Amino acid sequence: MIYDAIIIGGGASGLYLAAQLPNQRVLILEKNTRLGLKLLISGNGQCNLTHGGPIAGFKSHYGGHWKFVKHALNRHTNQQVLEKFGKMGVETIEREDGKIFPVSMRSKDVLNALVTSIKSYDQTEIKTGVQVLSITENNLGFSVGVKGESFTTKSVVLATGGYTYPKLGTTGDGYLMADKLGHEIVAPKPALAAVYIKSDALKELQGLVIREMSCTIERQKKRIYSFSGDILCTHFGLSGPGILDHSRYIEKGDVLKLNWAGIEADKLNHIILEVIASHGRNPLSFLMNQLNLPDRVKQFVLKEVQLNGLMKLAELTKENRKKIVDALTGYEVRINRLSDLNEAMVTSGGVGLRQINPKTMMSKIINGLYFVGEVMDVDGDTGGYNLQWAFASAYVAAEQIKQLDGEDAYAK
Ligand SMILES: Cc1cc2nc3c(=O)[nH]c(=O)nc-3n(C[C@H](O)[C@H](O)[C@H](O)COP(=O)(O)OP(=O)(O)OC[C@H]3O[C@@H](n4cnc5c(N)ncnc54)[C@H](O)[C@@H]3O)c2cc1C
Repeated sequence: MIYDAIIIGGGASGLYLAAQLPNQRVLILEKNTRLGLKLLISGNGQCNLTHGGPIAGFKSHYGGHWKFVKHALNRHTNQQVLEKFGKMGVETIEREDGKIFPVSMRSKDVLNALVTSIKSYDQTEIKTGVQVLSITENNLGFSVGVKGESFTTKSVVLATGGYTYPKLGTTGDGYLMADKLGHEIVAPKPALAAVYIKSDALKELQGLVIREMSCTIERQKKRIYSFSGDILCTHFGLSGPGILDHSRYIEKGDVLKLNWAGIEADKLNHIILEVIASHGRNPLSFLMNQLNLPDRVKQFVLKEVQLNGLMKLAELTKENRKKIVDALTGYEVRINRLSDLNEAMVTSGGVGLRQINPKTMMSKIINGLYFVGEVMDVDGDTGGYNLQWAFASAYVAAEQIKQLDGEDAYAK
């Protein structure tokens, strides 16, 4: 038996790809005993399967990889993903923040819809509990090796995901196989990660969310990147979408400068001088109340600068003012570490994009070898961007596999 396609990995991208191939001889090999484990836990079990709005709005959500991902995302948009799921019986709903979920809010329904479709195809086989160990090229296409046997196929798809959450089967196997086949691998690292800070300074703010806080990353005293987003203070440091989405730029040892006040230092200094000039007899707490800050942050900052809120504004020295401005606009925390691979939601890095055709996901160096989803050097922000990528990349690969099916296109 020669398969048209063997899909290695029965996760989001592998299953979506198989669902687009009703008339091909397809074999899905999944190392877990169950399919789609990561899909099941995605979005806290609710599955944020894509994001709303035009695809042009996705541009800033894939780090620096828009040039590569735009082809597949435009070919198979968020709306088309929703149509596909609609046809499979999954109705969806868009939240105010643009995140799209199944109406049932159950990822199980998304997974079941894919698996039910695939199982209805006569020529598709699924083998679970089977880990692929090797891919070798031969004159028929490829030989895919598992423990004790091998399968022959015209095309092979690496849908093995990244290397975070290894307990769900994603242990970076795809990188080893791609590397053996001559593909470059961009060093993988955990992404969508929370940051652990060196002190427990923020502990008293745990649970506090600051909307659209601006932050600056400094490395060896050099400013390297600024961003803003919703940030959650935790007992260990910082999390929330603002941190998770930009964690790909943060490294251990970096200093993160937090701007609680949401205005630039000069501007804040100017405001403080004005308040002092007109309300000099009032206490420092009066000034703090003029600023749009949560009460816990006001108390926190006063404690940090070691000034009493009852102190008269007129008595503030220049040095006091500077301390207040610095604490409010550039509060420094040093990064101890980022979430490790057991905690981070996705992997940045992976199979390098230079050797992959962005329109088909086929290897530029080996005909018939495809990559879909997170195994590639693509990581999206929170908000449904990673699953949209898994689905769109799978769709374009399926189109190419269908097109070449029956032709001698992969003849070696
Ligand atoms: C906690 C959590 C929440 C998330 N929530 C969201 C969300 O709400 N929205 C969103 O867009 N993204 C979310 N993500 C990210 C998203 O789930 C992944 O990016 C997506 O599942 C990647 O799809 P994939 O098919 O590339 O890989 P996966 O879904 O990880 O599938 C890869 C599969 O390959 C199998 N495999 C690996 N090696 C082998 C081998 N050698 N042989 C056989 N099989 C193998 C694995 O067992 C696995 O089942 C979340 C991730 C996590 C961890």
